Amino acid sequence: MREYLEFYIDGQWTDPAQSQTFEVVNPATEEVAGTAALGSAADVDKAVAAARRAFPGWSATSRDERLGVLRKVLDVYQQRIGDLASALTEEMGAPKALAGGFQVNLGLGHLTTAIEVLEHFTFEEQRGGTLIVKEPIGVCGLITPWNWPLNQIAVKVFPALATGCTMVLKPSEQSPFSAQVFAEILHAAGVPAGVFNLVQGDGAGVGRAISGHPDIDMVSFTGSTRAGIDIAAAAAAGVKRVTQELGGKGPNVVLDDADFAANVGAGVATMMVNSGQTCSAGSRMLVPSERMAEAIDVAAQTLSQITVGDPEGDFSIGPVVSEAQFDKIQSLIQKGIDDGATLVGGGVGRPDGLTVGYYVQPTVFADVKNDMTIAREEIFGPVLTILGYDSIDHAVDIANDTEYGLAAFVAGADLEQARSVARRIRAGNITINGAFDFGAPFGGYKKSGNGREWGEFGFHDYLEIKAVIGYASEDDPE
Ligand code: NAD
Repeated sequence: MREYLEFYIDGQWTDPAQSQTFEVVNPATEEVAGTAALGSAADVDKAVAAARRAFPGWSATSRDERLGVLRKVLDVYQQRIGDLASALTEEMGAPKALAGGFQVNLGLGHLTTAIEVLEHFTFEEQRGGTLIVKEPIGVCGLITPWNWPLNQIAVKVFPALATGCTMVLKPSEQSPFSAQVFAEILHAAGVPAGVFNLVQGDGAGVGRAISGHPDIDMVSFTGSTRAGIDIAAAAAAGVKRVTQELGGKGPNVVLDDADFAANVGAGVATMMVNSGQTCSAGSRMLVPSERMAEAIDVAAQTLSQITVGDPEGDFSIGPVVSEAQFDKIQSLIQKGIDDGATLVGGGVGRPDGLTVGYYVQPTVFADVKNDMTIAREEIFGPVLTILGYDSIDHAVDIANDTEYGLAAFVAGADLEQARSVARRIRAGNITINGAFDFGAPFGGYKKSGNGREWGEFGFHDYLEIKAVIGYASEDDPE
């Protein structure tokens, strides 16, 4: 049973201003896995004051000093991988292999990428007589969700540290454990006092206090579109920069000349990873209409190989994060059935043999019409919809007919055609034939947000741009 009753503020583990706590339920057992202190506006004030005091010193450090700190963080992070993984499994039900593999590796990847980018990043350049300087924006409020908890913390904290910002992190109240271990890592690595602060709590208390705080310069948020709108509104009075990574309903366009079985199979399997709780999931698979029956066969076969069970065991997927998510997903599956989509596999109710835990049957719907609720709403569970298209133009129309624009996928043998489809899709992150790039910018069009994370682009949101015109005269020696 974990008990995290202190916040990390000004380089120390600190008592909260009030004595309230909240419980974290292990989604695999439905039992309380631990308790954490519930923060308040007073804790945010204290953390922001510490970050403000630390800002002049940290923002004035050299590139090499910050690299030194980040490299120490890398050492400690590598030593604590096992602890991070078990925290992830307990708080959100990530299967052991996923938590200790892809989940911790994403955090590690953002850290090594931040180091590599910082080694070469251009903070100053002269254009004619004008000096252009990129300076840290100041104190940042970082608000993160529960679905890939460590990834989302890492992708904000490391670029913020690298650019010389100070920060207050509020992780999701559903996944406070991994954040606590993360803070221990930063502390052990010697991140100077006040540079990184952690306050646990909910959106209504701590999240709102951060987004409206007069002494926070920018807020970086990942989560639902609903909360993103709330945060932007609260931040508006202070004219704060707000970056948002929000929801998605990603199209996965399987072109006629793609290796059909391989790509449909991979699309089904990838959709189920992390129990489908991925904003960038390809949750709308688009296949040529005349090949729907073939897609159904492949999907059914792939589904039969996906196992669901205890995250401590050797299963493909674990539970979803909470009872509320479980109920929401069940009602959307029921809606898909009621609306007349073809249920290829899965359905309502827990998988056979599982009576406890928020386990959802991996579910695929085919013959889905674009106006059905399951084709439009982000389900955020292990549920794939397959839609048919009659031409490339039709596929692009369906792909773009969504309020979201985060990730998209295109598979095809003719690279020129796949490229052309990718260019026509209105989304921020498009993958052709399953490629992966840690340096590629990640972020959304439309209601999927604004701003970009990952790699070098991930630094920009944490930097102000200053132009000093007349900095150099023609007589200056070069
Ligand atoms: P959520 O919006 O409920 O919560 C996210 C965070 O915001 C939590 O820390 C929460 O406490 C806080 N919060 C909630 N309401 C707030 C408010 N009014 N003011 C300030 N803070 C508030 O989202 P969630 O359920 O934790 O995560 C799931 C959502 O996140 C999905 O919609 C998913 O698509 C999205 N997501 C997006 C990305 C991306 O990169 N685009 C990545 C992961 C998740």
